[in-house]
Amino acid sequence: MAFCEWCESINITSDTASVYWELPDGTRAIEISQTPSITCLECSMTYQTERVVREIEDQLYLIDCKQISSKLDYKELIKIPRLLKKNYFDFSS
Ligand SMILES: [Zn+2]
Repeated sequence: MAFCEWCESINITSDTASVYWELPDGTRAIEISQTPSITCLECSMTYQTERVVREIEDQLYLIDCKQISSKLDYKELIKIPRLLKKNYFDFSS
């Protein structure tokens, strides 16, 4: 059973929220709207699960952050094609 990470209440609900996220290179922060979140009806805390946090961090690390606007929604962010950090298909070198 899921419970609030802050007050351990089971009185929680799925929600979406806008979050501000600093880019991995530290140059700026972006606003990500419609981010899957948990809201606790007991302590009013809204937060993202570890899975969602990891997904956002992986995605920001693997896409070209210079191309993204300062405000976008979660689904748009996740849809951005990832760059290969290394070209694994280049066997010539
Ligand atoms: Zn709570």
